[in-house]
Amino acid sequence: MSSLRFKAVEEAFKKKAVAVSAPGLLTSDYYGSNVFNKEQMSKYLSKETLGELTDVIEKGETLNRDLANHVAAGMKMWAIERGATHYTHWFQPLTEGTAEKHDSFIEYTGAPGSPIIEEFSGKLLAQAEPDASSFPSGGIRNTFEARGYTAWDPSSPAFLVDDTLCIPTVFISYTGEALDYKTPLLKSLNAVDKAATEVCHYFDPSVKKVFSYLGWEQEYFLVDDGLYATRPDLVLTGRTLLGHESAKNQQLEDHYFGSIPTRVQAYMKDLEFEGYKYGIPLKTRHNEVAPNQFELAPIFGETNLSVDQNLLIMSLMKKIARRHNFRLLLHEKPFAGINGSGKHNNWSLGTDTGVGLLTPGKSPEENLQFITFVVNILLAVYKNNALLKASIMTAQNAHRLGANEAPPAIISVFLGTQVSSVLDKLEKSAAEEAIVIGAKQRMKLGIAKLPEVLLDNTDRNRTSPFAFTGNRFEFRAVGSSANCSSAMITLNAIVAAQLVEFKKTVDAKIAAGSSKEKAIFDVLKEYISQSKPIRFDGNGYSDEWKIEAEKRGLDCETSVPLIIEAYTSPESVKLFESIGVFTERELHARNEVKWETYTKKIQIEARVLGDLIMNHIIPIATKYQSALLDNVYKIYQVYDKEKAAKLSAHDTGIIEEISDRISIIKSKTEALVEARKIANKIEDEKEKAIEYHDKVVHYFDEIRYNVDKLELIIDDELWTLPKYRELLFIR
Ligand code: ADP
Ligand code: MG
Repeated sequence: MSSLRFKAVEEAFKKKAVAVSAPGLLTSDYYGSNVFNKEQMSKYLSKETLGELTDVIEKGETLNRDLANHVAAGMKMWAIERGATHYTHWFQPLTEGTAEKHDSFIEYTGAPGSPIIEEFSGKLLAQAEPDASSFPSGGIRNTFEARGYTAWDPSSPAFLVDDTLCIPTVFISYTGEALDYKTPLLKSLNAVDKAATEVCHYFDPSVKKVFSYLGWEQEYFLVDDGLYATRPDLVLTGRTLLGHESAKNQQLEDHYFGSIPTRVQAYMKDLEFEGYKYGIPLKTRHNEVAPNQFELAPIFGETNLSVDQNLLIMSLMKKIARRHNFRLLLHEKPFAGINGSGKHNNWSLGTDTGVGLLTPGKSPEENLQFITFVVNILLAVYKNNALLKASIMTAQNAHRLGANEAPPAIISVFLGTQVSSVLDKLEKSAAEEAIVIGAKQRMKLGIAKLPEVLLDNTDRNRTSPFAFTGNRFEFRAVGSSANCSSAMITLNAIVAAQLVEFKKTVDAKIAAGSSKEKAIFDVLKEYISQSKPIRFDGNGYSDEWKIEAEKRGLDCETSVPLIIEAYTSPESVKLFESIGVFTERELHARNEVKWETYTKKIQIEARVLGDLIMNHIIPIATKYQSALLDNVYKIYQVYDKEKAAKLSAHDTGIIEEISDRISIIKSKTEALVEARKIANKIEDEKEKAIEYHDKVVHYFDEIRYNVDKLELIIDDELWTLPKYRELLFIR
């Protein structure tokens, strides 16, 4: 082992930690203490202000300046009492993570030089104008109108990070286009609320609002800080570009749900302690399948808040990892040959009357409503399977999808046998039969008995990218580093558009003289047969499925730049515009950003790989080869030719293998540089991304294959990069 590597590994093993615990302190004692939530508001805002603000949040009423001033005053007081000196508009640009620019509360009381006070007005709370010219906008914001605005989102509570009051905001351009994830997310939540509420009225006229719920499961890797520092690929790209598989990795399945290493347990406890202070209802923690891979998940909540909490926890995870001498890897595929990380998005809809629309109910009416929503979702996913795939596709996630235990790059829906059989019966029943006269008929269709049967529905298909799991759908194709909004915007939007369509069709039938129930049944029957190709209960990892999916007409494209194009197809544009989530201009602009990001990610990786080859791999290989040559030379000095040839055969074999591999690595690396040069000349972002995908990406695996073979034959003492077996087994 090289001395540098040895030192780093030794240090890593010394860093055991003991989890902190404070007996007697209940989680509920400090839960939400860093959040300006309802409870805190009631202490810092007048009853009247709180009432008006609640109307703004719950009924979407507009925020007037007076109200903003009152809220700002209370919020400032709350924050200052807790040590805040600064505030920031916290927003979600089209980069990874969140953005913030801190301003202090200080203002002069009079002329410059006069005493200062802490100021925070409604104006500062409600709106800001960050110099946003260097955030990606896809050409929406020309430099001459480089202004971007952030505007307060009162539906997500402000919170305190260290000395800074963070105010969740949307981020839009001077001309009103969305430059972030939150703006379209809020629009999609509004759209699904409106459309679903209308459909609910067929069953229960008292429903006023439908909420979209999200429960994410965040997977992640931890590696020791010291080891991480010696891997330029991890530092600069978030994944290992080189490294042979460890002899032991996940094949014994001994890591999944195994006992959590002490050091990691200490990290998790610290993280949960911080997370609870932000009111993030963290519920589960466990080892994941791959070594050094873990997961945490909260109790689900309203989607907008849940997305913000996920972004916040990702940044806390990063920060707290450092305290424990870890580095957090959120990349979708940090290590080849073992599982990558996803972020299952558990999603459902529920009414303000407390009914889960994806939960089979107690009464046949509720179950008919349940079936109505399930079938509409099925059809929405079927019609927009390419778009849904586009919503989760990135350069990083492409490494994960279709690889070890990750859903394939084809969207299908798993319903489970119970729900499937109800739909099948419904589809086959004659229209007259389906006009449900009484509970008896429903019994026959299986609708009345759904809840009991579903209770024992344990067949959970882990290979499905979009699976029904009893009271929700689990969208598993989402990547671990992603902003959940991307998937949630699309999912809520396609379901909203589908529900609008459903309502229109049913209403037309009713207007033509059909009974409400018959109209609903007729349309559902039609939808069930239309959406059949999206239903797949088999093994999504198998090669047969790829062939079958192609036959069924599902989108099987695997090229990231082409997958992204689904956003700007005429159908997608029409869909997003019809329910007011995106304009065509916004869709095109956002795709520009996606293509550009894709290209840049590969460019960076290619540069890092080039450096590793030239600065680490080739020098090490040459050094070892030279030592072997030296040995061979000496053997020939000591022994006669025949004996020497025999004794040096092993060495010469390795010498030749090193030469062969170096020459392949060199020529492929040069070819990669050439391919990049050609691609870089292309101006059009989409064409450039396609060129990168088609002509550059394949070199990575070809080069890596040869480097990883060298790793197996070269003296361990010379190898400078920590190996998988060292990176992956925290004790
Ligand atoms: P598993 O690993 O078995 O899929 P977890 O318990 O790790 O399950 O995560 C399930 C996630 O789904 C949690 O965040 C949970 O709160 C969430 N969830 C449960 N019911 C619903 C629902 N009706 N709507 C949305 N999310 C839900
Ligand atoms: Mg799950």
